[in-house]
Amino acid sequence: MSGRRVVVLGGGTGGTMVANRLRRRLSDEAEIHVVDRDDHHVYQPGLLFVPFGLAHVDELVRPRQRQLAGGVVFHEREVDHVDLDRESVLLDDGTLLAYDVLVVATGARLQPQETEGLTGPGWNETAFTFYTTEGASALQTALARFDGGRLVVNLVDMPIKCPVAPLEFAFLADWYLRERGIRARTELSFVTPLDGAFTKPVASQELAGLLAEKEIELVTEFNAGEINGTGGVLTGYDGRTVDFDLLVTVPLHGGAAYVERSPGLGDALGFVPSDKRTLQSAARPNVFALGDATDLPTSKAGSVTHFEADVLVENIVRFLAGQELASNYDGHANCFIETGFHKALLIDFNYEVEPLPGHFPTSFGLPLLRESRLNHLGKLMFEWMYWHALLPGRHLPVIGPAMPTAGKRGIPTHAKQGATT
Ligand SMILES: Cc1cc2nc3c(=O)[nH]c(=O)nc-3n(C[C@H](O)[C@H](O)[C@H](O)COP(=O)(O)OP(=O)(O)OC[C@H]3O[C@@H](n4cnc5c(N)ncnc54)[C@H](O)[C@@H]3O)c2cc1C
Repeated sequence: MSGRRVVVLGGGTGGTMVANRLRRRLSDEAEIHVVDRDDHHVYQPGLLFVPFGLAHVDELVRPRQRQLAGGVVFHEREVDHVDLDRESVLLDDGTLLAYDVLVVATGARLQPQETEGLTGPGWNETAFTFYTTEGASALQTALARFDGGRLVVNLVDMPIKCPVAPLEFAFLADWYLRERGIRARTELSFVTPLDGAFTKPVASQELAGLLAEKEIELVTEFNAGEINGTGGVLTGYDGRTVDFDLLVTVPLHGGAAYVERSPGLGDALGFVPSDKRTLQSAARPNVFALGDATDLPTSKAGSVTHFEADVLVENIVRFLAGQELASNYDGHANCFIETGFHKALLIDFNYEVEPLPGHFPTSFGLPLLRESRLNHLGKLMFEWMYWHALLPGRHLPVIGPAMPTAGKRGIPTHAKQGATT
């Protein structure tokens, strides 16, 4: 194996975990290179709390390079394109990086400019996104000044990173406005292109119930086509309109721009078609992908990226050794959903099993699909685990790529047989 080179594109959640684990697994048998355009690693789940003054951006950002194990080569450069035939990556300073194995971990790109009017007048004045550090900070200032009126939370279209984050924002906004004593003079709406509060039926019903309980209006099947920031109007493609004084939007997402400049690598949205069990790309056998960059039919979430990293690292080691790949990623996803008042829900699911009630990971664990303080503490603790266990690539007992079934109620028999606990 000696003299091989693995190039990892993207030094975010997935790229960092994979590089650190590969470094440990392959030691000096392969060079590990990571490319990222900047040296600021953002703990993205923390952005949810910034608008409410519960976190500050500077606490969520750490130097990227310092999260990488010694011996991993870091290139602080923009990827220009990948040449699949020549097995090389061109960086924006002209550097040509040849690879034996390529890992695409460049995440998803926000595209607010793709929605008419969104980035025009009113952007970061009446219309905001908390999905970026700048947006989250600007929204904090706007929310602090907000004195009642119509507050609308909208996701423009799927897929988005962390599909539950806009719901969490709505729940936290309800709590924040009550604490400030202005909830009674605020109409709060959650406007979504989906036909319910969430993508999966059981969780969708539970979350719709919570929205109703908190007097948050749910507007479904609304595909936002145009935003008038100064007039405060969101117009759907079907002609329906929603008025707002403050709009919190989750813009369209696509894959990294260089994917479009790399023939054969991505699909029309810039995501990388990949095998849903092995994480090998459809482009070439020596190209793998994980995290938000893939086209896989599971959530774009850090938990998913973490579970995928386990399988992907194993498969790169096998690929380099000429062995058969493991086909054991089951689509496992796991998300805490903050609901305000120091409580949170937890959902856990995979390709075949939707989020179900019960407990995680066994019948004595955290409650599933039910609000609890324990889940809220779990969400807060997660940040420490992210920096100190997940990114360094440490193995976490119990939480792994295979979805646990032991504590779940109503799990289909065929799924029980296929999964491990
Ligand atoms: C507000 C918010 C809340 C969230 N909450 C949760 C949560 O509670 N739980 C959860 O599991 N997940 C959550 N997520 C999602 C989670 O953060 C992502 O799914 C996860 O970070 C994906 O990891 P990744 O490695 O695929 O992408 P990223 O971590 O985004 O990394 C991609 C990297 O690629 C780099 N890059 C892109 N293009 C180029 C280029 N051309 N050249 C060089 N570098 C490039 C970027 O700079 C970036 O560092 C949340 C996300 C947001 C925005």
